[in-house]
Amino acid sequence: MACNCFEKISNDLDQRFREAVKENCVEVVESEFENHGFVIAKGDWSPIYLKYIFRYRKAKKNGSPEVRCTNLENSVFMSYCPFCGTKFEGEDGKNAEIQATFK
Ligand SMILES: [Zn+2]
Repeated sequence: MACNCFEKISNDLDQRFREAVKENCVEVVESEFENHGFVIAKGDWSPIYLKYIFRYRKAKKNGSPEVRCTNLENSVFMSYCPFCGTKFEGEDGKNAEIQATFK
């Protein structure tokens, strides 16, 4: 990994939350950043992706908008660490700029 920012900050936040709730916490069920990406390719990738959401209303046959929204989304991996600016080199040194759809 290009840097250890995500691991370092995750550990720091986990410790702080555990300390804050230690009086009445029986079990920690989840403690992590949201939007963990899973890249099969070897190499250096951001462990977190940004989710872009596009919500819209389709038109009914009479042209009026549907009540419910239709959601589309796409996930984008970051090319640089948002904490220290180190570039993620991706597979075999290729640019890590990729887009992947998670659903
Ligand atoms: Zn970093």
